[in-house]
Amino acid sequence: MSYDVIVIGTGPGGYVAAIKAAQLGLKVAVVEKRATFGGTCLNVGCIPSKALLHASEMFHQAGHGMDALGIEVAAPKLNLDKMMAHKDATVKSNVDGVAFLFKKNKIDSFIGTGKIVSAGKVSVTAEDGKVQEIEGKNIVIATGSDVAGIPGVKVDIDEKVIVSSTGAIALDKVPETMIVVGGGVIGLELGSVWSRLGAKVTVIEYLDKILGAMDGDVSKQFQRMLAKQGVDINLSSKVTGVEKGGKGAKVTFEPVAGGAAVTVEADVVLISTGRIPYTAGLGLEEAGVALDNRGRVEIDGHFRTNVAGIYAIGDVVKGPMLAHKAEDEGVALAEILAGQHGHVNYDVIPSVVYTQPEVASVGKTEEELKAAGVAYKVGKFPFTANGRARAMLATDGFVKILSDKTTDRVLGGHIVGFGAGEMIHEIAVLMEFGGSAEDLGRTCHAHPTMSEAVKEAALAAFFKPIHM
Ligand SMILES: Cc1cc2nc3c(=O)[nH]c(=O)nc-3n(C[C@H](O)[C@H](O)[C@H](O)COP(=O)(O)OP(=O)(O)OC[C@H]3O[C@@H](n4cnc5c(N)ncnc54)[C@H](O)[C@@H]3O)c2cc1C
Repeated sequence: MSYDVIVIGTGPGGYVAAIKAAQLGLKVAVVEKRATFGGTCLNVGCIPSKALLHASEMFHQAGHGMDALGIEVAAPKLNLDKMMAHKDATVKSNVDGVAFLFKKNKIDSFIGTGKIVSAGKVSVTAEDGKVQEIEGKNIVIATGSDVAGIPGVKVDIDEKVIVSSTGAIALDKVPETMIVVGGGVIGLELGSVWSRLGAKVTVIEYLDKILGAMDGDVSKQFQRMLAKQGVDINLSSKVTGVEKGGKGAKVTFEPVAGGAAVTVEADVVLISTGRIPYTAGLGLEEAGVALDNRGRVEIDGHFRTNVAGIYAIGDVVKGPMLAHKAEDEGVALAEILAGQHGHVNYDVIPSVVYTQPEVASVGKTEEELKAAGVAYKVGKFPFTANGRARAMLATDGFVKILSDKTTDRVLGGHIVGFGAGEMIHEIAVLMEFGGSAEDLGRTCHAHPTMSEAVKEAALAAFFKPIHM
């Protein structure tokens, strides 16, 4: 059997590319080395972490958020095994869903490690060592990413005491203390999970702000909120050693600017310093597929590598390491392979931190606009002035809209607040259609909703908000 498309890797990039290509009439095979489909996202990433974020937030609310609403409940009791079972069941239903969609779309699947033998040929080595070769006109590399270590520091991740995100979503008891190395999205989400369940969490971050590239106002506000929740954050701190010992593990860090080193101990240390593209065992060197200076598969604007017939998408290529970015690339590439004109708008890719409150962002940050010399206007509206937020005791946070000073076109939107991850999409849709702050401010929003704060922030950017 020869295929139109062979997709290596079934994360959100690969599985979506496969389904879309099959929907467009192409004969598709997928190769996956895990026993289940769905990649990092469904198995050990987005989905299990969100199951735990939701469950731990419910636990926290039951213990802390009810009294002020006039609901008196006894102190909640944690059943961690049951919470983990909820997470596992959520993962199972999602990965089973992908298997169902493959069947429905008549996609052949091969379980084993895929290696590109040459353009048009992929070998699949199963766990028992059996090798088979499949042929296809087009090969899509969608092998995703893996945990990055700490540059220059040898870390022995055992997934019990020194853990990556994979171990951090599967701890069998709540640690008394947890150190999170890296104050990015994954570290802060998983740190929040264990903090809500009772761990004393300390974050150590190299940069002078948390959440890396997010808007400066957003990361400042978010840091204040995390501090209120009891999370300790050390910024501008360089970790120089992580080793087992003491209570569980010891982390040594020093000020980035120079100064005395400090060693702290914790039951569990989470290494969340980012992710690196995963290309091991793919045979890229032999096949002549070029990588860029950060080890990512190099592609052009149409996802083509330097070898004809070989394409790449998702975390293994440039751009934000996000599931929905990988999915959109999967759709666009499938369309291109089917002779259509697939395209991804990289200027409008939302990004969400699923903590409580949530943080969500789309488009440019204020820092990016300044650096690019773009003249802009800022409209900000706090949830303290929003009726629905007051009714829900969810007044923490704000909406910030950035628009072009001359044209009023919206260039970025940033939200810290309850439900930010849902609200961000109206700004994304507006930006996709090239809308202005006035368009957003004049769009009728239902009352009372948190989303009215988005409208008010747009009004603030365009002229003046009503409710402030
Ligand atoms: C804890 C955590 C939480 C996250 N939360 C979010 C979130 O909330 N939202 C979000 O957008 N993103 C989130 N991400 C990031 C998201 O998971 C990735 O951006 C996304 O999974 C990338 O998709 P992908 O298809 O490129 O690769 P992956 O999902 O990594 O899938 C790649 C697949 O390829 C397989 N593979 C690799 N090499 C081979 C080979 N040679 N042969 C066969 N198969 C192979 C792997 O087994 C894997 O299944 C999170 C990540 C983590 C770790």
